[in-house]
This record gives sequence, C-alpha cells and structure tokens, in this order.
Amino acid sequence: GPIVVWLRNDLRLDDNPPLAAAAETGRPVVPLVVFDEESKDVRQLGGAHKWWFHHSLESLATSFRGKGSQLTLRRGEGAKIVPEVMEEVGADALVFNRRYDEGSRAVDDAVVEALGDDVAVTRYAGNLLHNPDEVETNSGGYYKVYTPFMKTVMKQKRRAPVDAPSGFKQPDSFPKSDKLEDWDLLPTKPDWSGGIRDFWTVGEKAAHDRFADFCDECLGGYDAGRDKPDKDATSRMSPHLRWGEISPIRLWHTANAYAERRKTIPSGDLESFLQELVWRDFNYNLLYNFGPMATKDFNSRFDDFPWKSSKKSLEAWQAGKTGYPIVDAGMRQLWETGWMHNRIRMVVGSFLTKDLLIDWREGERWFWDTLVDGDIASNTAQWQWIGGTGADAQPFFRIFNPITQSERFDKNGDYIRRFVPELKDLPTKVLHAPWDADEETLEKAGVKLGETYPKPIIDHKKARDRALGAYDEVKG
Ligand code: FAD
Repeated sequence: GPIVVWLRNDLRLDDNPPLAAAAETGRPVVPLVVFDEESKDVRQLGGAHKWWFHHSLESLATSFRGKGSQLTLRRGEGAKIVPEVMEEVGADALVFNRRYDEGSRAVDDAVVEALGDDVAVTRYAGNLLHNPDEVETNSGGYYKVYTPFMKTVMKQKRRAPVDAPSGFKQPDSFPKSDKLEDWDLLPTKPDWSGGIRDFWTVGEKAAHDRFADFCDECLGGYDAGRDKPDKDATSRMSPHLRWGEISPIRLWHTANAYAERRKTIPSGDLESFLQELVWRDFNYNLLYNFGPMATKDFNSRFDDFPWKSSKKSLEAWQAGKTGYPIVDAGMRQLWETGWMHNRIRMVVGSFLTKDLLIDWREGERWFWDTLVDGDIASNTAQWQWIGGTGADAQPFFRIFNPITQSERFDKNGDYIRRFVPELKDLPTKVLHAPWDADEETLEKAGVKLGETYPKPIIDHKKARDRALGAYDEVKG
C-alpha cells in the first residue's frame, strides 16, 4: 500500500529523511500537509507566519508536481485528519519528522494511537543537528548552559545530508485536497504584507540560493559582520529553517564544504556561524528536556517579579514610537519585513523588560505574531534569556543602554535612517539621542520632538534604577 509522508515544519524535498526513505521503498507516496488550528495546546500561527506558510506551500506544491507527485492539503485536527487520509488511500505506513514541543508531541502520539497496530509509523529526526535526547552531559543529564552544550555538539558526529528524491511513485488516486486559497492565510484588509513581500523570497530554492550568496559574500567576515545591523551580513536563514525549507544539517555541511574549497574563509568565521546553528539546537534542548517555555518562567524566582502592565508603553514599543531611535528602528524593521537583526532583538527586548518593566511574555507574543521566523523554541528561550528569567540567561542586572548600543553597533546611523526616515537628516552625532540636540540642529533636520518624532517615553537612567530596585525584590 501507499506511504503517507506527513510534512510539518519541513517543507522541502532536500535532506528530508522520511521523504527520502518513503521514495526509496518504491511504493506510492502521498505527501500530506495538515493545517491544524483545532488541536488543543498546539500554538496557533501568528499573522506573519501565515503569510510565509501560504507561499511556502505554494512553492512546495510546485516542487512535488515537478517530480510527478501531488501535495495534499487538509485542514482540521491532526489526530483525526491523518488517519482519515490514510484510510482514503489505503495507506499502511506513515512517516514524519519529530516535533519537540509538548502540544505537537501529544498530537503525534494521538495519531499513532488512532492508527493502531496495522499501520507502521516511523519517526525521523530531520530538523535539528541532533535529537535533543542525544546531547548529554557527562553525568547523563541535559545541558542548561550553552557553552558546554556547544562544545559537546562540536565534537559529536553528525549524519550526512540525504539528497532530494529523483521522483515518486504515484498512488492509484491522490486523496482530495483543499485549495490553498481557501485556507485564507494571506491578509486582506488591510494588507500589511507589502514590505515582507519585497524583502523575502519564500521556498526551498530561494533558501539554497540565498545561502550560496551568503557563503560567497559574508561567510568570510561573519564573526564581526553579524553584529552590524546596518549591513546585510547574516544568512537570513531563520525563516527558511523555521519552516524547514532548508535543513540545519544541509547548512552545516555546505558551510564546511565551502570553507574547505575556498581556503580563504578564516576558521573563526566558519566556527562562529556553526555555533549559531548550535544555539538553535540548544533552544530545542531546553524546550524538549525542560520545557514548556512560552508561558512559564524558567527561573521560578521570577514568578513574583513586579512586572508593570502599561498598555500605552507596550503600544509605543510595538509601533516603534518609544523616542529611542535604535529601539524604534528595530521595531519598525520587524513590522515592515517580518524579521529583525539579532543585535537589535536584544536591544528592544532589554528595553521592554528592563526599561519599561513589561513582562517578557508580552514581547514574546508580539514577536510570535509579527516574525516570519517566530520559532517555538528560539523565540521563547531568547525572550527568557533577555528578560533574565531563562536557563542560561543574561543576568537581570545587565541592562542594555539603548544609546551606547546604538553608537556602537549603528555607528554611522544607516540602520536608524533606513527605518526611522523622519530622523534621516539629523547629523550622526545626535542621531542616537536626538533629545540632546540643540534647537537649531533639530530645526535644520526638520525634526520637532513630540511632533514629528516622539520624545523618549522613559528616561533610561531612571528606568535602570527602577529595574534594579524591582530586581532586589526577587533576588533573594
Ligand atoms: P545568522 O546570524 O545567519 O545565524 C544562522 C542561524 O543560526 C539562524 O538562522 C538561526 O537559525 C541560528 N541562530 C542564530 N542566532 C541564534 C540564537 N540566538 N538563537 C537561536 N538560533 C540562532 N531566532 C529564530 O530563529 N526564531 C525566533 O523566533 C527568534 N526569536 C528571538 C527573540 C529574541 C528576543 C532574540 C534576542 C533572538 C531571537 N532569535 C530567534 C535568534 C536570532 O535573533 C535569529 O535567529 C537571527 O537573528 C536570525 O537571523 P539570521 O538567520 O540572519 O542569523
């Protein structure tokens, strides 16, 4: 009978172990995607996610057609839909890549349960460098700290990537499929997706093309380049990885092979890039071995932290109207492009949780809704890291100064000028803190604080003292 390949966060043909294994059997293959908004405890997609999901499915469907196959789309509760489709085509085998969050694992287990003993189910691991249960400490536990985790992973042997199947045998008939348009994944009124559309090319081919360009142009110099938000110096693989359009194993081997071929890539740059990929695995290690993380403070001491709720401040932060140019540039980059540079994610995260004393969960939720790469492990772990509540967290008292960060990492102000155009004519000297500029300078640049651009919604120095005071209450 046919084999159903249930695709989830792995919308690709290349290096997709269950798909390759299914094709290899020579039996008919039925690729299936389920849009599941019904399973309890599975986190619903955010707005920007849905935009990406739509285009990624479009691209994947085309790839399957090119191989003489057909992608089936179905909407509903995973544990009901998968067995239904299997019955429709008389399939007696199911394969998929493992998922790691509690809610999704429960769905996968429920499917296996519903299928009973007559169906062979095989779970693969295609979306991480290593399964989180395979990276152990010397004493057989799991890591809560990144550096020793990373050192262990760097020494570990990794599987080789598997190539895309050359073709698939067709079943007698494919199951009935929903029309992608009927899933209503794209925004209509208002359509906020224009900037995202201009910024990204979605899909497996785009991911491979972009990564090849990255290797040519930015891998050498990556270690210094990755901290420059005004340069296009990182891989921008994060949404492609989030949706599994490219696998981390493929990236790992491609980057290594590239550096091997071009002897000119400094080993520190290669290493620094590989270590970023390990961060992603580390966050999955936290989620799987110690989670859930989206709502619960990793460090329970913070359960009583006196977070402030201020709708007005939260909205100013979300809209990029805090009066701190570097923070506002970041928040507007996020809204416009569905992505934000890593350095600036830290700056805006620190500003929300420390300067505004707003609960990290609010930031996490906003990112989840607006990022195209919003990731169940990385978004939650990184928010807890910057908020000070996480496993291997930035200590709470280490508070980013939005002015010095800006001066240091956006030295010429190009990043601010791009995303906060109303400040673009200010001299760089005052761009990072326009409230310090004299009247004449502001006037010449057409800036009227409080009118064309907000005054700072909070004084950083006072906010810092307030945060440290709040921290004293839970420090224990
Ligand atoms: P590159 O510098 O090219 O790195 C290559 C890859 O390594 C990335 O695509 C990513 O998969 C991985 N990586 C790099 N840094 C990290 C990191 N700190 N943690 C985990 N993986 C990393 N990343 C997400 O993928 N999804 C998220 O939802 C997410 N939310 C974040 C929230 C906050 C508050 C912070 C501070 C960071 C968050 N990150 C998240 C991590 C990081 O900012 C992005 O992975 C990175 O900016 C993506 O850009 P890139 O692909 O060009 O990265």
